[in-house]
Amino acid sequence: MPKRSIQESQRNRSRQAFERACRVIPGGVNSPARAFGGVGGQPLFFVRGEGPYLFDIDGNRYLDYVGSWGPLILGHGHPRIVEAIQRTLRDGTTFGAPTELETQLAELIVELVPSIQMVRLVCSGTEAAMSAIRLARGFTGRDMIVKFSGCYHGHVDSLLVAAGSSATTLGVPNSPGVPRNATADTLLLRFNDLEQLRGAFQEWGDRIAGVVLEPVPGNMGLVMPLEEFLHELRRLTHNHGALLIFDEVITGFRVGLGGAQESYKQQPDITILGKIVGGGLPLGAYGGRADIMKKVMPAGPVFQAGTLSGNPLAVAAGLATLQQLRQHAPYAWLEQLCRTLVEGLGQSAGMVGLPHQLPRLGSMWTLFFNANPVTDYDTARTSDTKRFSLFFWGMLERGFYLPCSQFEAAFVSAAHTEELIAQTLSAAREALAEVLDHG
Ligand SMILES: *Cc1c(COP(=O)(O)O)cnc(C)c1O
Repeated sequence: MPKRSIQESQRNRSRQAFERACRVIPGGVNSPARAFGGVGGQPLFFVRGEGPYLFDIDGNRYLDYVGSWGPLILGHGHPRIVEAIQRTLRDGTTFGAPTELETQLAELIVELVPSIQMVRLVCSGTEAAMSAIRLARGFTGRDMIVKFSGCYHGHVDSLLVAAGSSATTLGVPNSPGVPRNATADTLLLRFNDLEQLRGAFQEWGDRIAGVVLEPVPGNMGLVMPLEEFLHELRRLTHNHGALLIFDEVITGFRVGLGGAQESYKQQPDITILGKIVGGGLPLGAYGGRADIMKKVMPAGPVFQAGTLSGNPLAVAAGLATLQQLRQHAPYAWLEQLCRTLVEGLGQSAGMVGLPHQLPRLGSMWTLFFNANPVTDYDTARTSDTKRFSLFFWGMLERGFYLPCSQFEAAFVSAAHTEELIAQTLSAAREALAEVLDHG
């Protein structure tokens, strides 16, 4: 049934909209991940989402595997979330003063995420990460932060570091505009590399304020952590008086109600949340041990503030999302759908003889065009991005919207069905055969 039905000529309005946007918005987009840079060509412009589907301005329908890069675990326009936003909106949009909704959301986060005893709401994942780093430094009285190549924590100055020449490197900025000083205290290590981690703690242990990581990275494509790596991180940070900071902006409420920390049974000191916690509206959060969180102003001396922090609409959307997830926990179902998808993709790729890796956790997955296991950023980058881009376009033109980069995780939502997974697999069989023909 699937054919290449959405050709370039069926995307004229998107092309025109992009040209127009490029005149007034840098690169035509408000976040670079949307720009199709990793696959060539131009982004689509959308007007509507409904359940598992997205509709572009040319009237094409796509089955969505991006879910706004993670937030939409319940699909587009879930009635409970829409209703919660509408009900809240009638009473106003912002008060710059406390509401009980904020406490309700905080209580629910504390109930669901094992390591969080207190939590502060902010407006984005970036803001949460930035605040968590500041808090770790303020709490420990130390400056150094450990980060891992390929993990993303938003566009925080001190975390925009590139690998230098030596194996263990103090950071060099990876973007113009980030002062050398801003990254001078950031130590960049290789994900899953226990030896390097131990070496770093041996050398710098008493200077390290915190180690920040995605416990299950989704921002170099999905990469599975070694359990021993997570375990060693907890042990070393604890022994050296450094804080362990889990960035669960993607994994929080995605891999289970308690996030990756629950799946892997590791208790971080601070957790960074975003994406699902806001139910599709701009909201982030950081939380953790009460003695640490009590250092945040006005309870403590570490400054952090926000005019729209705890915004009623965002809080209502987040609360409705978490309540729905708690009541109807779709995780076993999501797992089943995603396993069917990934097994089918693996069979098709194997059948046409395409070397591939297909890591999956719950409803997160990545198809790496790579013959070797992907365990860190270096191995991720050996993937065949030309093949990925052929696959991406082959799927898009058949009406399936995947993340526009080899180095992003894809998501199944609770609005997906077995029938839709079957359709996806049938399209993927054709698209993968084409990849081999062309690339
Ligand atoms: C998306 C993301 C962020 C940044 O969140 P924003 O809301 O885009 O600022 C931080 N960490 C991880 C792991 C993310 O995936």
